[in-house]
Amino acid sequence: TEGMNVQDIAKLIHREPAEIIKKLFMMGVMVNQNQSLDKDTIELLAVDYGIKPEEKVEEDISDLDKYFEKEAANTSYQENRSPVVTIMGHVDHGKTTLLDKLRHTSVTEGEAGGITQAIGAYQVHTNNRSITFLDTPGHAAFTDMRARGADVTDIIVLVVAADDGVMPQTVEAINHAKAAKAPIIVAVNKVDKPNANPNHVMEQLTQYGLIPEDWGGDTIFVQISAKFGKNLDELLEMILLEADVLELKANPKQKGAGTVIEARLDKGKGAVASLLVQQGTLRTGDPIVVGNTFGRVRVMTNDRGRRIKAAKPSMPVEITGLNDVPESADKFIVFDDEKTARAAGEERAQQAVLKQRQQTKHVTLDNLFETM
Ligand code: GDP
Ligand code: MG
Repeated sequence: TEGMNVQDIAKLIHREPAEIIKKLFMMGVMVNQNQSLDKDTIELLAVDYGIKPEEKVEEDISDLDKYFEKEAANTSYQENRSPVVTIMGHVDHGKTTLLDKLRHTSVTEGEAGGITQAIGAYQVHTNNRSITFLDTPGHAAFTDMRARGADVTDIIVLVVAADDGVMPQTVEAINHAKAAKAPIIVAVNKVDKPNANPNHVMEQLTQYGLIPEDWGGDTIFVQISAKFGKNLDELLEMILLEADVLELKANPKQKGAGTVIEARLDKGKGAVASLLVQQGTLRTGDPIVVGNTFGRVRVMTNDRGRRIKAAKPSMPVEITGLNDVPESADKFIVFDDEKTARAAGEERAQQAVLKQRQQTKHVTLDNLFETM
């Protein structure tokens, strides 16, 4: 309970912060939402809500969302973390070219072999800082993840080809970004082309509320050529600038938690999952629950195919050691011991089967009525 504020407590006991502030006020304690409460005040509240602080409440270990939230709420210690970026834009505007170019520019010769192994995300290192790029261009991956409750993207880079302008999927991407409340950086691409008209792109985008700083707006525009690597350093710089504004932080001192980017069954290695660490530190040997499966982190590799022992927030890694193949957008959490991890994993798997059965039943009934 060290360093808990009103909001943390409200979340924990599923009450509105305003209610708690009012309650404390009635007891003669004046607090604001972000003020951390001392032990006595927390005990006062606990008594009032009929919660015995000494008693250890039996936790529903199978609810990863709750577990995740609790770990995330443990924010007494925070470090800066790298931004996680998704590249979006209309087909053929240069998303894949940009992702490839960025990936290769920050790789040294010795590492060239490692990068053939794509794990769904990679990091670019620049000026002693890193940026994580999700290597799954296209809107489907982004919306699928969001639909399944996984909001992993901090910043969206919107690629618009300067010779083609705003197209239907450009608008779609803007809408996705707005729905996700993720800031957009516009990369006006293909400026090397003779028929490129970056100004026209900028004009078009003003209709969607994306107004360049020079024109009194607050959207960052960078004119690039993904193919020839022009202005990519500037693009990276702007991403880091935006990240500074967002003040992205996480606590690497807690147990690892995050989201599955993709997963597959490998003939030799068994279940292989690419994970994005979002909280805490993930270590080899950690007992872990991933979606509806569990295991122990056996081998962990980074985006360059190198074996690593620990991964901090915003790092993408690939792990082996799971009992089954999880799904993308599944959450993962490190547990204290393997026994609890197994229990939670098995419980979740069982619940998933039950849920599926219920859904199948419903569908059958619906179908029955529809056809009648
Ligand atoms: P995606 O569909 O958005 O992933 O687009 P691609 O990256 O596959 O690019 C589509 C085409 O545009 C390819 O032929 C690329 O070589 C080309 N392209 C991408 N970026 C540039 C650029 O900056 N300049 C030029 N001239 N061509 C580009
Ligand atoms: Mg592509």
